[in-house]
Amino acid sequence: MSNRDRRSIESSATLRGVGLHTGRDAGLTFRPAAAGSGIWFRRVDMPRQPEIPAHVRSVCTTERRTVLGAGDATIETVEHVMAAVAGLEIDDLWVDLDGPEVPILDGSAEPFVSTLKSAGIVVVEGEAPTLSVSATLTVQDGDAEYVARPGPRSLTVRVEWDHPLIGAQMASFAMSPEVFATELAGARTFGFASEIEALRARGLIKGGHLGCAVVLSETGIVNGGGELRWADEFVRHKALDLLGDLALAGGRIDCTVVASRPSHRGNVAFARALYDHCSSGK
Ligand SMILES: [Zn+2]
Repeated sequence: MSNRDRRSIESSATLRGVGLHTGRDAGLTFRPAAAGSGIWFRRVDMPRQPEIPAHVRSVCTTERRTVLGAGDATIETVEHVMAAVAGLEIDDLWVDLDGPEVPILDGSAEPFVSTLKSAGIVVVEGEAPTLSVSATLTVQDGDAEYVARPGPRSLTVRVEWDHPLIGAQMASFAMSPEVFATELAGARTFGFASEIEALRARGLIKGGHLGCAVVLSETGIVNGGGELRWADEFVRHKALDLLGDLALAGGRIDCTVVASRPSHRGNVAFARALYDHCSSGK
């Protein structure tokens, strides 16, 4: 990798919105962190402001989103903000939240990217942590399959849905802040209108509305006048989710990654395998 400069932000920046699953409004503030400290969430609305490391060790749920927890403090739906942090290659950061869930906003990582950029991305002391593999590492979790192998930093994702707008999609991306900001950050989450009732019955998507996701009917898009940002926005969003979940492995991914039918549960299993591989001295 060419650039191992460690990065944080220069000043604080805030955004606010409703969480997709809890329906709760929360303010999220990015704050600079000391060089070498890593990425941390903090529940500033709770007594003693519990701190939760953005790490696979903190993952407590992966059903439809990724949830981190420590004691009775949890942070729901971390994947899009973590994708922005990893995509911009920020290594040291506080993410303060005054509610239980990261705002869903437009369902993409773009609002987090523009907020982080507005805070000023700066080089700090030290070298960025990286995760590389010395041999091929394979993880299977249900239908999801992942391979990490030594090679250029790239992410290839393949998805398949029996839907006229999706079908089989495959896309590859170099891992760099420029590619992330222009090719991945704007890809929105998506869901199927036919699943809404069942998800609500399970206590999920309480904050769902037509502005925060691409909602698909059996033949097209439900959102009034909704258009896709890319014809393959679906696979781009899955790449974004994967990057966000892999950020929980504790460093920048420095290898070639190929994922087929990724899920949050599979992504976290893969992040854990990468972390174990890299921390065991290989
Ligand atoms: Zn997502």
